[in-house]
Parts: sequence; C-alpha cells; structure tokens
Amino acid sequence: TETSVTVIGLGLMGRALAAAFLKAGHATTVWNRTSSKAGPLVAEGARLAPTVGDAVKASPLTIICLTDYPAVRELLELLDASELAGTTLINLTSGDSAQARDTARWAGQRGARYLDGAIMAVPPAIGTAEAVILHSGPRPDFDAHKPVLDALGTATYLGEDPGLASLYDVAGLAMMWSVLNAWLQGTALVATAGVDAATYAPFARQLAAGVAEWLPGYAEQIDRGSFPAEVSALETDARAMEHLIAESEAAGVNAELPKLFKAMADRAIAAGHGGEQYPVLIEEFSRPGGD
Ligand code: NDP
Repeated sequence: TETSVTVIGLGLMGRALAAAFLKAGHATTVWNRTSSKAGPLVAEGARLAPTVGDAVKASPLTIICLTDYPAVRELLELLDASELAGTTLINLTSGDSAQARDTARWAGQRGARYLDGAIMAVPPAIGTAEAVILHSGPRPDFDAHKPVLDALGTATYLGEDPGLASLYDVAGLAMMWSVLNAWLQGTALVATAGVDAATYAPFARQLAAGVAEWLPGYAEQIDRGSFPAEVSALETDARAMEHLIAESEAAGVNAELPKLFKAMADRAIAAGHGGEQYPVLIEEFSRPGGD
C-alpha cells in the first residue's frame, strides 16, 4: 500500500533510498542541503520540500542519510518542537553506537520517535533483497514502518538498544578488513611462486567460506565459556602460525599480520589455554590492548 515517506540527504545513498521508495509507489518527499541534487528524483515524481522542517512535516516517517552524526545533529537542531513531536525519524547515517544512543536520547527529549539504522549495502543494491538494513530502537516503531522499509531491501530488527545497529555495522567492518587482509597476505605469498591473484582468488574464496562455517559452533563454545579442543588445540594453531611467519619472512613478504596473530595466541598460551580450542582467544579480544 502507498504511504508517504520523507528522505533527508540526497548523496549517493540518499538518492538510492528515495528512488527505491518512488519505485515502490510511495509518495516521496525529499530535502537536501544542495537542492539541485533532487532534480532527477523530482522528474520521477518526488516532491522537493522547501525547508527541512517542511520535509519532516510532510510524512509520518522521515529517513535521514547524511555524511555523519554531527551533520545530522546540526540539521535536526534547526527543527522546532512542533516539527519533531510525534514524527518518526529513522537515521541510516553511519556512525558508532554512542552517537546513535545520544541521538536517540536527543530525539526522545523532543517528542520524536527514533530508530537508528545501518546500511550494509552499496547504493546500486538498494531496493533489492540483497540490501540488508539493520534497525534498532523501539520495536513498535519498527513494526509500524516495516511495510515502507521493505521497499529499501531486507529490513532487519536487532533490538531495543538504539546503539545495536551501529554496533553490528562496526563489528562487520572487523570482519570485512580481516578477510580482505588475510586474502591479501595469501595473495602476496603465492605471488612469490609466480601465482597471480586471479588464480589464487577462487581457492581463497573457498577457504573463507569454509572458515565461516565454523562460526556457529565456535560461538556456542564462547557462550558456554568452555573451549574443549574438539578439532585442534591452540598450541597446534600457534605452530602453524610459525610456518606462516617463517614463509612470509623467507619470501620477503610482510609478516606484521601473522606476528599479530601469533602474539595474541602466545599470550593465551602463557595464560594456560594452549590445550583449548581457538575461540578461547575471545579473552584476548575482550579486554583493552593494541596501544
Ligand atoms: P555522500 O557524500 O554522497 O552524501 C552526503 C550527504 O550528506 C549529502 O546529501 C550532503 O549534502 C549531506 N550533508 C553532509 N553534511 C551536511 C550538513 N552539515 N548539513 C546537511 N547535509 C549535509 O555520502 P553517501 O550518500 O554515500 O553516504 C551517506 C551515509 O550513508 C554515510 O553515513 C555513509 O557511511 C552511509 N553509507 C553509504 C554507503 C555507500 O556505499 N555510499 C554504504 C553504506 C552506508 P550536500 O549534497 O548538500 O553536500
């Protein structure tokens, strides 16, 4: 069913969001600091609001997607209480969980309903099921707007704590760079034997997918707090890390990443965990370090 929705921020992502709402048949109001960016959307049927306050008042739901949280707060500060009271804001701007919780508190104090979100997709994927968009905040507000949010992709709800979406977003960055760095390490190693990146990539992809299969079982160990070595002990892994370091150094390839792995494993072994399974390293990850 057709609903009206507002999109504030028409950068690369905001334009994709507004276009997806239009495509799904929702009456879409848009606003952007640089109003010329609204041109193509207006040609497709969007309404350009003259002011940000007018944009928020035009729809029961306003999606915000700006560069960062300071920009969001700077813009929202321009609104008066009557414009904010009773409206629902969903802020899909990327940031950290503290910024999300602060903004939720700020909006709550002004009578606005607020959900925080994080977009786990690039603009061309918006509007397809592939585009996962995480949301956190009051469940009833998510449920009320889910039919509209479905136009953007796979709308996922994480929980009441408004910081959760940003937290998952940031946690996902750790996954992304870890997989990419591990793949680059391997690519540099096989290159020393004349193997090009394209030859190694399918093998690396299979390895990454295989390791990903271990996660649910390993997660059970972490949640139980018990790490029996069912398939391999940490000290066995630490010996394999030595091979990786030795191979890298002998080949004249960067060994910083392998040495970091080994340093963390060595600390866990020194703490008496050598006979336990790899996820016992959660203890190393769960305290400050890396200064
Ligand atoms: P862009 O740089 O393309 O757009 C930024 C938007 O923010 C523009 O609409 C800009 O307005 C607006 N803006 C910035 N500062 C202010 C301000 N002080 N007051 C009012 N408006 C302001 O970025 P994207 O659209 O790519 O990204 C937007 C958000 O989406 C970011 O948080 C990003 O991390 C997130 N995201 C982006 C992805 C991507 O692949 N692009 C993927 C996942 C998340 P103006 O046009 O006037 O400059």
